Amino acid sequence: MLAALLYGKEDLRLEEVADPTPDKGEVILQMGVSTTCGTDLKVWRRGGHARMLKPPTLFGHEVAGRIVAVGKDVTDWQVGDRAVANNSAPCMKCFFCDRQEYSLCPNLTWNNGTFAQYLKIPAPIVQHNMLPIPDDLPDELAAMTEPLACVLHGVARSNVKPGARVVVLGDGAIGLMFVAKLVDTQAEVLLFGGNDQRLAVGKKLGAAATFNYRELPDIPAVVKDLTQGMGADVAIEATGVPSVWETAIACARPGGTVNLFGGCPRDTTITVNTEQLHYSELTLKGVFHNTPVFVREALSLIASRKIPFELLISDRQPLTQLEQVFCDMRERKVIKVAIVPN
Ligand SMILES: [Zn+2]
Ligand SMILES: [Zn+2]
Repeated sequence: MLAALLYGKEDLRLEEVADPTPDKGEVILQMGVSTTCGTDLKVWRRGGHARMLKPPTLFGHEVAGRIVAVGKDVTDWQVGDRAVANNSAPCMKCFFCDRQEYSLCPNLTWNNGTFAQYLKIPAPIVQHNMLPIPDDLPDELAAMTEPLACVLHGVARSNVKPGARVVVLGDGAIGLMFVAKLVDTQAEVLLFGGNDQRLAVGKKLGAAATFNYRELPDIPAVVKDLTQGMGADVAIEATGVPSVWETAIACARPGGTVNLFGGCPRDTTITVNTEQLHYSELTLKGVFHNTPVFVREALSLIASRKIPFELLISDRQPLTQLEQVFCDMRERKVIKVAIVPN
């Protein structure tokens, strides 16, 4: 089969590799659509990822498709079933899994390789994080279950109350999904990003106001202006840039919550003003990845068609164009691209 392999920094190659075969508990999914993701772009540019993968490796992690083979002991699935598979599953037996803190599981089974004609789904994912796709839901929408599950996890842990004024920093797919879900939660969302086309999508998804940070010298000052000098009830960082983490903290009101959602490069640090943290009683939260509950919630939210997630898909391209797609993502010409086998 044809598959994309990541070898290092901006080194992605399409190669002919052996078709995968299922071992006990595994299934083989024929890729219907694999969506690109900001994390993929980050990993491609950095040449690796602390948790998820080490090159050389099969690449890509958001997928919906059809089962073409099932391994021994797989009883719930049959050849021909349509399924969406999360890119990880917790072990269900460690200290953290016992406490239902699944995203902290040190034994997460990761799965990469969605930019390929076929993909093997490991047994723990088949068991805990693979879901049937409703008949009338297209693959390209179902494939967005994984990133949306991360966002739903992020929103659930951000103390967002109806009517809350929430700042979202970052207009990538994740930032835009935050906008959509927060609006759905009756929050008033101020979106800051660097790309007018993406900001326009944020507006369509219900952001109360959008701002291009390139035209604003001082984001926290703008937020204070718009909130009677208070600051935001909740600030969400969705870029993975340490200086933006600091900006997010500076946007929060006393008593506010800051969700530091975007993973930064290794060994980076930020500076926090101790006086602000203490006397303003800020809550700073790191939120990572997703859990099985949110994977299920994400697919049902997509399937409800309450939110036009199709706005996040800018383009549809065959696997053979993958490298060009990554260049387009680097130039921020596209949000998400639906990759199809051919
Ligand atoms: Zn993703
Ligand atoms: Zn575990």
